[in-house]
Amino acid sequence: MTSLTRDDWEQRANTLKIEGRAFIHGEYRAAASGATFECISPVDGRMLVEVASCDLADAELAVQDARSTFNSGVWSRLAPVARKAVMIRFAELIDQHGEELALLETLDMGKPISDALGIDVSSAANAIRWSGEAIDKIYDEVAATPHDQLGLVTREPIGVVAAIVPWNFPLLMSCWKLGPALSTGNSVILKPSEKSPLTGIRLAQLAIEAGIPAGVFNVLPGYGHTVGKALALHMDVDTLVFTGSTKIAKQLMIYAGESNMKRVWLEAGGKSPNIVFADAPDLQAAAEAAAGAIAFNQGEVCTAGSRLLVENSIKDKFVPMVVAAIKTWKPGNPLDPATNVGALVDSTQMNNVLSYIQSGHDEGAKLVAGGKRVMEETGGTYVEPTIFDGVSNAMRIAREEIFGPVLSVIGFDSAEEAVAIANDTPYGLAAAVWTSNLSKAHLTAKALRAGSVWVNQYDGGDMTAPFGGFKQSGNGRDKSLHAFDKYTELKATWIKL
Ligand code: NAD
Repeated sequence: MTSLTRDDWEQRANTLKIEGRAFIHGEYRAAASGATFECISPVDGRMLVEVASCDLADAELAVQDARSTFNSGVWSRLAPVARKAVMIRFAELIDQHGEELALLETLDMGKPISDALGIDVSSAANAIRWSGEAIDKIYDEVAATPHDQLGLVTREPIGVVAAIVPWNFPLLMSCWKLGPALSTGNSVILKPSEKSPLTGIRLAQLAIEAGIPAGVFNVLPGYGHTVGKALALHMDVDTLVFTGSTKIAKQLMIYAGESNMKRVWLEAGGKSPNIVFADAPDLQAAAEAAAGAIAFNQGEVCTAGSRLLVENSIKDKFVPMVVAAIKTWKPGNPLDPATNVGALVDSTQMNNVLSYIQSGHDEGAKLVAGGKRVMEETGGTYVEPTIFDGVSNAMRIAREEIFGPVLSVIGFDSAEEAVAIANDTPYGLAAAVWTSNLSKAHLTAKALRAGSVWVNQYDGGDMTAPFGGFKQSGNGRDKSLHAFDKYTELKATWIKL
């Protein structure tokens, strides 16, 4: 943790040198067109830097560069043990530049500095380190062949990977992709969100310092419909890995079909149920976790526990406990280390969240906490953590991903009903169950159609376990050794003996 005060962070923010250019073949450069867009901080509305607005021409250049670097073998054919050393160095550099990266992240997307440093940066470094450390410990297979044949089943790097990432955990989502993509020997082009491009841009320079050869990791900031689309339609991109909304995820599948059938791996949205049974082992812990599950990162979390399903027999007692717990989550200046709720990423997102709050009122849900924009005088975009009780699963606030701090509380009477409500969603990213009954915990966990299920906690997991969604929350998995499958092709080689 840091001993820096809010004044220290403010001072650093005022003198921070911010890079906004694209990064191709080891160098920062303007977009080919010279176009830029303004990067505005949601903390207070200040303009941070002009960012290169890349498009088709930049995508062409970056893909050509990534392809020729891949073909040269400078990275793709390096011994795994050598790639491992470079990846570990890369992780160390992320840690060493942690305060700078955290400050960029906070200024760029509004999250509290304590989270940016204590969670985003350290988890990002860990993702790179974990993947790098794994790469010389993975073995290929020998098939069960007849006596006169040798069948080798091997994995090889797939080639040029385009990684398109969202704005809510810009550094961490990038590193979840970069760790396995680079460790397996690919060349990667990162397209950060236009709402939060700064840490991705900075990361590229650290990669070079770590010893990743020029051209192996390029970064193209810009809009989705310009440079994102150009990468997704490119005939020489082999794999597209994406984290973002379900709407864009579906579009990317179309782009792949319209171009070269590139592999498309999608991590998309969620509307995760958090089920609290009357026999939960610790209702206070469940209430605090329910509040954190919607307030952490301003609710801008794909796995936000946005639907709180509470057994009706305890609902009158439990909801006030959640309301009390959410009062400890208060919007404040994100540069203050004591702040635990920052700004929403921009005014568009804030207005979107406020319109969902209005829709909750309109559909007859009962507001029991929050509900308003606050700190307007700062020039930033802050909304109170908000709770609606009396929600039905048919309401918009229960069906659509709000991606902000708005919790819908829904009652249920039986485990069957809880599971039916929980699964009645197009999404399937995560779910949680609170009960002291071991069988009920297992049976409910099995019945939930979600990529991650947490029992008597919310949001567990680390690099050892896969992360990703069922249904329209995506395909493929980030984290763990399963993630390596996305970045490699499987080859069978038959040798006649
Ligand atoms: P988004 O889909 O709007 O944008 C994501 C990225 O796609 C951005 O870089 C954007 O520029 C790019 N993009 C947009 N249009 C494109 C196009 N036509 N072609 C190519 N690229 C395009 O999502 P967002 O608003 O940045 O992020 C929020 C979403 O991300 C939420 O739905 C959230 O649930 C999801 N998310 C999922 C996970 C997960 O692991 N499943 C993690 C974090 C966020």
